[in-house]
Amino acid sequence: MSAGNNQGQGVPILILKEGTAETKDRDAKRNNITAAKLVAEVVRTSLGPRGMDKMLVDSIGDITITNDGATILKEIDVQHPAAKMMVEVAKSVDNEVGDGTTSSVVLAGALIQKAEELIDKEVHATVIADGYQKASEKALEILKKDIAIKSNPEDKTLLNKVAITSMASKLVANDAQILSNIVVDTVLSIAENLKEDGANKIKVDIDNIKVEKKAGASIHDTQLIRGIILDKEVVHATMPKKIDGAKIALLNCPLEIEKTEMSAEIRINQPQQMHRFLDEENKMLKSMVDKIKSSGANVVLCQKGIDDMAQHYLAKEAIIAVRRIKESDITKLSKATGAKIITNIDELSSTDLGSADLVEERKVETDKWVFVEGCKNPNALSILIRGGSQKIVDEAERSVHDAIMNVKDVVEYPYVIVGGGAPEIAVSQQVRAWSSSLSGREQLAGEKFADALESIPLVLTENAGMDIIDTQVQLRAKSGSSGKVRFGVDVLEGRVADLASKDVYEPLLVKEQIIKSATETASLILRIDNVIAASKSKGAGAPPPGAGAGGYGGYGGGAGGYGGYEDME
Ligand code: ADP
Ligand code: MG
Repeated sequence: MSAGNNQGQGVPILILKEGTAETKDRDAKRNNITAAKLVAEVVRTSLGPRGMDKMLVDSIGDITITNDGATILKEIDVQHPAAKMMVEVAKSVDNEVGDGTTSSVVLAGALIQKAEELIDKEVHATVIADGYQKASEKALEILKKDIAIKSNPEDKTLLNKVAITSMASKLVANDAQILSNIVVDTVLSIAENLKEDGANKIKVDIDNIKVEKKAGASIHDTQLIRGIILDKEVVHATMPKKIDGAKIALLNCPLEIEKTEMSAEIRINQPQQMHRFLDEENKMLKSMVDKIKSSGANVVLCQKGIDDMAQHYLAKEAIIAVRRIKESDITKLSKATGAKIITNIDELSSTDLGSADLVEERKVETDKWVFVEGCKNPNALSILIRGGSQKIVDEAERSVHDAIMNVKDVVEYPYVIVGGGAPEIAVSQQVRAWSSSLSGREQLAGEKFADALESIPLVLTENAGMDIIDTQVQLRAKSGSSGKVRFGVDVLEGRVADLASKDVYEPLLVKEQIIKSATETASLILRIDNVIAASKSKGAGAPPPGAGAGGYGGYGGGAGGYGGYEDME
């Protein structure tokens, strides 16, 4: 489209490439607001323990069943640029803290919807965005100072409550107790005490947790393995399938004769020569195995290949070997067993070996996997997730991941809050009171921010099939009266209740991230008054004719037509 300037000359000046679509001012803003609200609408029914799951079907018919906001939004193909920004908020919250994705989208949607009401009253979007920013800072301050409960990072009972709360809204809720014990044990085992700037800091690196899943059995059969599970078989049929008191050599060099870089030709004329040549190779392989044997190892775990002949010699020595193990697993094995990773077999000595109570090849459904387990104080461990079907183990894996992140959040930043919308109601009331200190129109924005915070308990209420007005009145009354911040929506009983007595606890970190990300995204979307979508290349991705103003309202108006927008970011 062209930006024309016809004064005098009658020749329009083109500043945008031909085929570029542009929407401006009110239209741009409206379209963005509508798109953002639609995205929030998609996920709102999945918020909370009474939220519904979504079944997502991709273009080749694969289905995913989930309740996880980030997963839902990742799987659906969103076209509109503002809608994409809403998807980003879920992603960023997921990356930062691992939970709270649905809440962040719902809150961002509510902030935008409330802003729309002000825009209708001619309040400038920038004023709203500024007001939101201030209100969000205030909300975070109130949350930490007045509402959060300082906790002990090693308080297992509380960590269990946090893990169970995070799983309450998932398919696995019925087995949450079993899973949460596993999750809390796992996270505490790998938590490291670090000194940072003189202060003690606890860090949890979740890369040290290996999650394997296999459809079959039931979620009850999910196990914590104090060691590492390898989805590989023992290399040779005559090797033992089980070794107690394992002494483990961890190799990232092959047990093979290295082929030369150059292609050399060896001329062999007589049978004896052939023998001698093969004998030589065998001798070299034999001597490698002898070195392993003399180090005292009875298990070899190798990142590279193991020659057939070497396998044969190892088997004769009753040594178990596994080959072509992923590099990331080798690192974890080293952390779990204490073995040093050996790059040159000549340097292997007994002090390099790691240990485990048991190394065993086991059948997991139709696969054979090697379990390295019973490690002493392992710094890396595994969780084997089981469940009735592939869809169930997939969702269980996501839920376990969320629970791990929640527990990690509390271990690293030991503050919790009560869930069920209790903190949102309390913060909302305080923010509303504080708003009156703001000047003029920012005050309106502050009040709208307070309203938007209530969307979390209200959506929980709605999803639980409770009466919204009744609940809102009760929540405001209870939360305000005694300065108590524990009254929220008990969605399981369908009433307003003290949720601390129901053991509903969440990490403060998650709530902080929800508020920060939702505010940022809402402000960002509100500030946009001009959307310029370049055509991708000639013809190919151009928006359909007439898609100019108003053309971004719906999804998929012109598939690929907004691609150019990304190029401009
Ligand atoms: P998110 O993706 O935002 O984590 P969830 O579907 O996990 O969304 O729902 C989280 C919300 O559910 C939080 O506000 C949390 O406080 C609330 N919640 C969790 N368990 C309960 C419960 N037993 N009663 C009421 N609310 C709960
Ligand atoms: Mg959650």
